[in-house]
Amino acid sequence: MKYFAGIDIGSTAIKITIINENKELIGHRISGSGSMFYQYAHQTLDELLRELHIAKEDIAYTVSTGYGRKLFKEADENISEITANAIGAVAAAKEFGAIKTIINIGGQDSKAIALDEMGNVVNFAMNDRCAAGTGKFLDACAMNLEIGVQELGEKHFKSEGTPLSINSTCAVFAESEIIGLLGNSHSVEDIVCGVHYSIAKRIVKLVKRVGIKEGIYFDGGPALNGGLVNAIENELGKKIFIPQYPQVTTSYGAAILGVDSYTYNAKLTLI
Ligand code: ADP
Repeated sequence: MKYFAGIDIGSTAIKITIINENKELIGHRISGSGSMFYQYAHQTLDELLRELHIAKEDIAYTVSTGYGRKLFKEADENISEITANAIGAVAAAKEFGAIKTIINIGGQDSKAIALDEMGNVVNFAMNDRCAAGTGKFLDACAMNLEIGVQELGEKHFKSEGTPLSINSTCAVFAESEIIGLLGNSHSVEDIVCGVHYSIAKRIVKLVKRVGIKEGIYFDGGPALNGGLVNAIENELGKKIFIPQYPQVTTSYGAAILGVDSYTYNAKLTLI
């Protein structure tokens, strides 16, 4: 059996997915990007292969993607995270139906991607200028509230009444605003809910730039936060699909492209 690796070197996390020649998911691993992307990516790959009992020689083709993709020089090919995300989302949501819109929130950016009927990327919009609306903002809020990011979802659903409004448009000022709200005896639950709605409003504006079409897929680490998912669904007024492993859609897409490039003996990279 031949295996294929998709390596997504993101600003916050390295995600590696291994699939077989039938494009079935065999395993994945996520680790922090840290400052030494290259070393950590190799380390993560070695650990994952060891865990899956797969020899390095059995990896027929490797595709890197993400912010640090060019640093992984051993990859047979590298591909933009937009294309990889689209390929991965279409495959991961096969049972859900056609995907027309992807929302991706990463550690330091957020994106909206529009797809056509065939799953090709037709447009995308990106926010990589402002931390508000990204995972970093959620991390900073959680830190100020002395909770972990994985607790944000649960707190959101314990909030009562109308969500608090967080008015600052800059993440740094929003942090001060949150501290102010704590000082005014607002509960952690209500503040978390307010933060989620403030991010959701920004995301909806971003998605509107590419057009909101039914068949909405949400991925990236913050898609693990059920409270944020709830706020985005309410702001959009539409249901969104969350894959089983939201952080590895893009690495999964890179691995899938690897199978095709290997099979047709041609680099299939589009953008
Ligand atoms: P990138 O691809 O840019 O490196 P990710 O898609 O891995 O980023 O997203 C990283 C962000 O995901 C973190 O900043 C954090 O806010 C969020 N995150 C990670 N794990 C969880 C979790 N278990 N629950 C909620 N949010 C999470």
